[in-house]
Amino acid sequence: MSLGWPLATLNAVGLAASAVDLSVDDFPTAAASTARLVAIAAPMHTALRLGVDAARRVRALNPQAHITFFGHYGWLNRDYLLQANGTSALADSAIAGEAEDALTALAQAIAAGRGANGIVGVSTPSQTAPPRLTRLHLPTPARAALPSLDAYARYEADGEMYLAGYTEASRGCLHTCGHCPITPVYGGRFFVVPVETVLADIRQQVEQGARHITFGDPDFLNGPGHSLKVVESLHREFPRLTFDFTTKVEHLIEQQAILPRLVECGASFVVSAFESTSDGVLARLNKGHTVAQMGEALEILKRVGLPVQPTWVAFTPWTSLDDYLGMLGWIRSHGLIPATSIVQMSIRLLIPPGSALLEQPDAAVWRGELEPANFTWRWAHPDTRMDALQREIAFIAEDADPDSHPWILFEAVEYAAHAIAGLPAPAHPRPAFLPPPPPRLTEDWFC
Ligand code: SF4
Repeated sequence: MSLGWPLATLNAVGLAASAVDLSVDDFPTAAASTARLVAIAAPMHTALRLGVDAARRVRALNPQAHITFFGHYGWLNRDYLLQANGTSALADSAIAGEAEDALTALAQAIAAGRGANGIVGVSTPSQTAPPRLTRLHLPTPARAALPSLDAYARYEADGEMYLAGYTEASRGCLHTCGHCPITPVYGGRFFVVPVETVLADIRQQVEQGARHITFGDPDFLNGPGHSLKVVESLHREFPRLTFDFTTKVEHLIEQQAILPRLVECGASFVVSAFESTSDGVLARLNKGHTVAQMGEALEILKRVGLPVQPTWVAFTPWTSLDDYLGMLGWIRSHGLIPATSIVQMSIRLLIPPGSALLEQPDAAVWRGELEPANFTWRWAHPDTRMDALQREIAFIAEDADPDSHPWILFEAVEYAAHAIAGLPAPAHPRPAFLPPPPPRLTEDWFC
């Protein structure tokens, strides 16, 4: 979406643009050598890492090109990107929020030989522009020149793999969780994409062979009426298409009445950010739910027959070793081991510049130095065993055989965590028949 929407918007005003997904394609040396504007999408931390490498290569090949970063992480890290460190800066501008119009205005200015200063929504070394939070008339994303769906993760269900597509029915988020990069950019606002546009995007992916669609909205149930209209239209046109979506625990409870209809329309799993089994940590993250509500949400999902894949922020400055062991026990006792991707057990809180967490009154106590080139504030756990455990679990996750059953990997995590706590490994007998993982994508999602 980060490429398809800008591409469609630029094409619509007659600007010649091409797009490359650097997560699956080679760096486009020829195009980068001659482009007048290079716009790099950085919606996530990993994308920014790839994007910074790309910006360095563009600078070396084509010093005259204007480089802009767009997306949450690009804008949050704009001080680093726009600052000249002895040599030229990595970027000339940065854009965030509903970015396509600002990007188009920038491209038109560059094409006309003008600079970027004074363009609404475009931050430069001499002006900081807030994120664009204006509803846009988005066209259908332009996918024809993008890599085909078989370059990406598959949908896996009942031992079979299927091509999967991806779309978004809304952007931004109604909520303001402290650790989320969307909060400092959207500040609790979200914008829906018209049903016809979402359907047109799904249609073009079904034509490419998609049998499943991921709704990548930050939270699909921010606008439940809109989402219902989207999936009912999807189901009318493609009755065999399945889909997944992401929503928070609070919404699973508040919107439980519509969940059966989502399942009837093809919902085959939901991703939900459970984050922690400590109410203290959940309050720190401003998650808006409690551990008891996580249990309530699981009961609701069981009743409606919708499997969940919880996501976790397993390591924070406030998560004690007892909390971590408690999380493992909670996952086991709630039957979630098959739904737990092991990388989730290693996730360490990332605090980008501008994070809402930095506004907490005691932030100076737990945060360390800003590491601009790593796009994060450093923090260390007061209990050094926690940082050692995080490194060990990250190693287990990186080293894991992708064909290993989640149960085997989960046991390895349990063993490591108990060992570091000086406790004997828990003596849970392994079931003779390991339950198959619920429907999922073949690449784990984590932020
Ligand atoms: S974590 Fe989820 S619910 Fe919270 S602000 Fe981010 S997208 Fe919204």
